[in-house]
Amino acid sequence: MSSPIAYQAPAINRKKVGDMTVTMLSDGYLDVSFELLNGIDAAKAEALLEKRGAPALPRMNINVYVVHTGNRTILIDSGAGGINGWGGRLQVALAAAGIDPLDIDTILLTHGHPDHIGGLAGPLQTPLFPNVQQLFVHEKELGFWRDDSIYTSAPDGFRPFFEVARNAFNAYGDKLVPFRQEAILPGIQTVPLFGHTPGHTGFLLEDGSDSLLIWGDIVHFPHIQLARPDVTIAFDSDPAQAASTRGQVLDRVVSDKLSITGMHFNLPTAGSVQRDGNAYVLNYDLWSPAV
Ligand SMILES: [Zn+2]
Repeated sequence: MSSPIAYQAPAINRKKVGDMTVTMLSDGYLDVSFELLNGIDAAKAEALLEKRGAPALPRMNINVYVVHTGNRTILIDSGAGGINGWGGRLQVALAAAGIDPLDIDTILLTHGHPDHIGGLAGPLQTPLFPNVQQLFVHEKELGFWRDDSIYTSAPDGFRPFFEVARNAFNAYGDKLVPFRQEAILPGIQTVPLFGHTPGHTGFLLEDGSDSLLIWGDIVHFPHIQLARPDVTIAFDSDPAQAASTRGQVLDRVVSDKLSITGMHFNLPTAGSVQRDGNAYVLNYDLWSPAV
């Protein structure tokens, strides 16, 4: 007899950054294949995961963040919304965290891939966070997904990604705020991390001496790509730039002793990076009962 419980309980984890509270939530996961990785074979990829005590599966967790500041409730990315059976647990996780989707007034997007934007809108451009007043997205990112010549020349398998992104962007219409530069909101700086997509962006939260870098998709398989920052993934729009951006941000994170978190960390938590020869090691923060 199979277990009557088919789903993990909602995963929620909180962290303070000065006066800001960051709620880290799991949207679930998506299964891919190590074949998507370039620069490493499956056996080596599995060995790197096993070395760090992680399951040797090509499974990418999907995390989402809600930041409560003094006067805003900010959603950062939205998970996959269940598209293709990917993720889709954000609404359940928000409910478990006591966060009403109607209270979200601001959205920050790292980039327009479906596992980040799929949870923003239902069919027919229906916003799932209808009280949002501003949706910040890098102008290069918005331009890429809305470019008709790129869309029409995209491979058949990639075109549905455009439809998901366009549906979400259109759902928020005049609430879109394309940005270019660094500081968008008090305590929140954008960090250009181009390469994975043309406008891929991280968000650096700072309050006093406290900080947290939410680095989007700098890694899809954290333990593999910290040990081997040169390993890229088929979703990278410019793999060479993605790898060089990863190298630069890892160097900065170690030098500045930044706390970091990402949409594909193995669990919704933050962590720290240490140098390991020419490579890096990621250590996840433990869950704490106190915020
Ligand atoms: Zn992603």
